[in-house]
Amino acid sequence: MLSCSRCALAGLLMIAASLRAAEAPPPMDAAEIRLALEKLDVLGRVLYVAAHPDDENTGLIAYWANGALYDTAYLSLTRGDGGQNLIGPELGEQLGVIRTQELLAARRIDHGKQFFTRANDFGFSKSSAETLRIWDREKILGDAVWAIRKFRPDIIVTRFPADDDKTHGHHTASAQLAAEAFKAAADPKRFPEQLEFVRPWQATRLLWNTSPFFFRARNIPFDPTGLILLEAGGYQPLLGKSYAEIDAASRTMHKSQGFGVSIERGEQKEYFKFLEGKPVEGGDLFSGIDTTWARVPQAADLSAKIRVLVAGYDMKQPSKSVAGLLDVRKSLQKLGDDFWAKEKLAEVDVLIAACLGLHLEAVSEKLAAQPGETLALQIEAINRSPVPVKWKSLRLKSPPSTRRYPTASSSQKRRA
Ligand SMILES: [Zn+2]
Repeated sequence: MLSCSRCALAGLLMIAASLRAAEAPPPMDAAEIRLALEKLDVLGRVLYVAAHPDDENTGLIAYWANGALYDTAYLSLTRGDGGQNLIGPELGEQLGVIRTQELLAARRIDHGKQFFTRANDFGFSKSSAETLRIWDREKILGDAVWAIRKFRPDIIVTRFPADDDKTHGHHTASAQLAAEAFKAAADPKRFPEQLEFVRPWQATRLLWNTSPFFFRARNIPFDPTGLILLEAGGYQPLLGKSYAEIDAASRTMHKSQGFGVSIERGEQKEYFKFLEGKPVEGGDLFSGIDTTWARVPQAADLSAKIRVLVAGYDMKQPSKSVAGLLDVRKSLQKLGDDFWAKEKLAEVDVLIAACLGLHLEAVSEKLAAQPGETLALQIEAINRSPVPVKWKSLRLKSPPSTRRYPTASSSQKRRA
C-alpha cells in the first residue's frame, strides 16, 4: 500500500490495474483530469442494450460519457462469435475473443463501460423465438438482471424494438430480454441467488433508441411524433473533440467487421421511444431523476467540495488538487457502504494517482501462473509530483475474470 504523508492512498487497485497494462487506458492528461473532476459531481447512469459487438450507438455513448458525464455502459449480450472476419482467418470462439477486445478498445476511446452475458452468437437467426430457445432464455435473462443490479442504471436503452421480425433474431431478442430484465431486476423473487451480492434495482425508465434509418430500411415513412428528441452533437473542449469524432474513432475499433464512419461534426439528432417506467417529461430523458449528490443521504457537503476542487484546479500542476481529493475521499468513506460513495471512491483513487503522475507497474518473466504458484514480480513505483508519497505495502488482486459469478447452481452448492 502506498500512502501520502497525510493519508492513505489505495495503491492496491492501481497495482492490479498495471498488471493488466496491455488493456489499460493511457494515463489521463491534465484536461482529462479536469473533466473527470467535473464528473465526480454527476450521479447518473445509462445502460445501452443490444446483441452484438458493433450494435451499440457509439455516438450516444460518447455524448453521454463525455458530455452529460453520465456513467454509460453497453451490455452486449454476445461476443460476436458468429460474425464475419474481414482481417484474418479466425472464426467462432476465436473471433469472439477478437470482437471482445474490439469492444473493450472502443470503450477505452468513448469512455463507456462494457458488459457481456453468456449468450452465444451462433450465427444468423430468423426469429427471436428461435434465438431465445437456443440461448436458454432464463439463463441470459439472469445475466442481464445481474448486469442491471450491479450497474444500477437510471435509464435503460435498447438499440432494437422488441416486435420486429425483419432483423436478426438476436437483435429482437435483445430488446425483449431488456424489457423483461427491466422488471425482473427490481423483483426480489427473480434470481434470488444474486441477492447475496447485489440488491434489486428498478431503473426509472426503458426506451428504444430509434432512427429514421430503421424506418427507411423497412419502407415505412419516419414520423417523429411522440418520440423524444436528443441533440447529441456537440464539442468537448477539454478533449478537443466533438462527440461525433469520438464516435468515429470508437467505431473504427470494430476492425474485424470493416467498420468505420466518416465524421459528421454538426448536429446529431437521436430519437427515443418511451417504453416502460416513469413517463418522460419536458422531452428530457432524465426527467425526474436526481443526478446530484442530493440522491445520497448525508452527502450534502460533497458537491460544494467538488465544485471548489474543479474551480481551483491548476492545469499546469494537477498535484495541487491531491489534498482536496483526499478530503473528498474522507467524506466518501464516511458514507460507508453507500453504492455511489463506493463508486466515486474508486474514481477518486484513479484521480489521485493521475494528479500525482503516479506510475505503478508489475512485471513478471512468466506469462501466466496458477493459484498457489509462486510468481516473482518486479515492482516499479514512481511518484512524479512534489507531493510526498510513502510506500506502505503491496497486495495483488485477482482480475475480475477469476471472481465468482453467482448462478443458481453455485449458490445452492454453497448452501449445501
Ligand atoms: Zn447485430
